[in-house]
Amino acid sequence: MSLSGQGLSPGTAFGQARVIDTRALLAAAVAVEPTGPAEVEIERLRAAVARATVELDRVQRHLAERIDAGQAAIFHSHIALLRDPQFIAPMEQALRTSPLSAEAAVARVVSDLHNQFLSQPIPLLQDKAADVLDIGRRLVHGLRSSLREGEVVPDAGRIIVAHSLTPSQLVRFARQGIAGVVVEACGPRSHTAILARSLGIPLVAGLPDISGTIAEGTPVLVDADTGRVTIDPAIDELRDWHGESSPNRRSVEPDFIPQPAVTPDGVTCQVLLNLSDPVEAPTVSLLGADGVGLFRTEFYYMGCANWPTAEESYQVYRQVASELGDLPLHIRLVDFGADKFPPYAEFPFSRNPSLGLRGIRLLLAREDILRPQVQALARLGRERELTVLIPMLDSLDTLHETTRRLCQICGCSERSQLPFRLGAMIEVPLAALQIRQILPHVDAVSIGLNDLTQYLLAADRDDTFVERYHDAMQPAVLRLVAEVITAAREAFCPVTVCGELAGDPKLTGLLLALGLRSFSVSRASYKAVLDAICHLSIRGVREFADRLPELATAGEVREWVQRNLLPPAP
Ligand code: PEP
Ligand code: MG
Repeated sequence: MSLSGQGLSPGTAFGQARVIDTRALLAAAVAVEPTGPAEVEIERLRAAVARATVELDRVQRHLAERIDAGQAAIFHSHIALLRDPQFIAPMEQALRTSPLSAEAAVARVVSDLHNQFLSQPIPLLQDKAADVLDIGRRLVHGLRSSLREGEVVPDAGRIIVAHSLTPSQLVRFARQGIAGVVVEACGPRSHTAILARSLGIPLVAGLPDISGTIAEGTPVLVDADTGRVTIDPAIDELRDWHGESSPNRRSVEPDFIPQPAVTPDGVTCQVLLNLSDPVEAPTVSLLGADGVGLFRTEFYYMGCANWPTAEESYQVYRQVASELGDLPLHIRLVDFGADKFPPYAEFPFSRNPSLGLRGIRLLLAREDILRPQVQALARLGRERELTVLIPMLDSLDTLHETTRRLCQICGCSERSQLPFRLGAMIEVPLAALQIRQILPHVDAVSIGLNDLTQYLLAADRDDTFVERYHDAMQPAVLRLVAEVITAAREAFCPVTVCGELAGDPKLTGLLLALGLRSFSVSRASYKAVLDAICHLSIRGVREFADRLPELATAGEVREWVQRNLLPPAP
């Protein structure tokens, strides 16, 4: 059987399915502590029910459109169960009578019901057991995206099949040598997708109820280049696959020939790499990149068993630096919160994690995390040139507080004495709007286009429901980016755009037009961005900067792109 989804990280893979088990998820949910009094937990539960209903409705319509009426009917019955007061009322009752979290109430009621259905002598009722479990999984995921199906240790070469994966799960699975990933839900600009691309793990998403469709151990062929997933492929399908690509192909092309990033009219640009895992560092010389524009250190933390010490972090940073020679290196302080957290951390779980304690705000509240990382970076900074990036900087107030804390840790009294250059990630609209006040207090700025777009447009980068609204082609996003680039250039402050959106070659021309000369992209986008730079003359794109104030819709921006930016030669 072949299914069609969305390939989010290129490559192909073949292996046996490792299906992530829902019962372990419910067991983990029972242990979750309440975040507030009963009314708060009931409100959280109701929000999760509403969200699951919308999600199921979407899955059902998706299947109905593909004329899979049988499967669509299953989801119709799931929706009916969610609307059934007999199903939800016992959860609310449990919350009113004992100090439970909404997660624990769901897990208890769902596990009881599951057992009741399983013990029925009638097969039709036994089938209901799986439905109940599936709804329980959806509700728990909706309540707490950080909670996952326990400590799964897949064997090397497996294809992970799950409803969704967190970045930290993917990091752990990658270390076990998994071959590919197939999930129901994952946004193209989510950290899980970014990481899969960085690690070269083929990933296909958008397959409804995939963990209920593929049985444990079934052979699965994943073609993330086309988005096709073949369950139990026939011998000739496997032969074709072996014939046209090497097994478990990764995303960097082995025959890539490095070339300088110079536009046809002679303007030299910088194309840096975003690293998620220290093991990716050799890719910089493989691709001939100009250095590392963003080392997302949080994924290194996710692969550790405990908080790394200053010594451990230093060794990792030094190893990355040793791959670069004298090339520029930008290391970001850990950006935990929202969807990223190491498995050993217990951070406060906010109602809206993307607007909660995240990035530098979390670090300022947690000296125990900030200090060892800064000590490690300071040690490296005394040995080679280094820029340390502040994640999710919001305001000048936070910048001053951060600088003071960094100076304290490094034993100096002002920024100019820090053993590294200080860079600000510009990804919160406030920081972008305050750019002219921020610039005198930093040595570099890096525009995090994924988050800047998310926060400016109120569209979660990780939420497939609003994927089309997370659109950097909105003129307001481009105008804000233009303002940051112009201000930085006027202040002679280096400015880079990083993030997955910076790797979209359609945006490359627009960013060049707005004056950007430094791009930092993941290795999966590197070649396309380099090609775009080498085929777009600055003279040809400059007009866009003059037109931008008049453009009112993303459609008008796209029209301009269509008319003026020739696609780069293949
Ligand atoms: C961004 O937000 O664009 C960025 C580079 O940071 P991250 O993707 O790691 O959040
Ligand atoms: Mg970001």
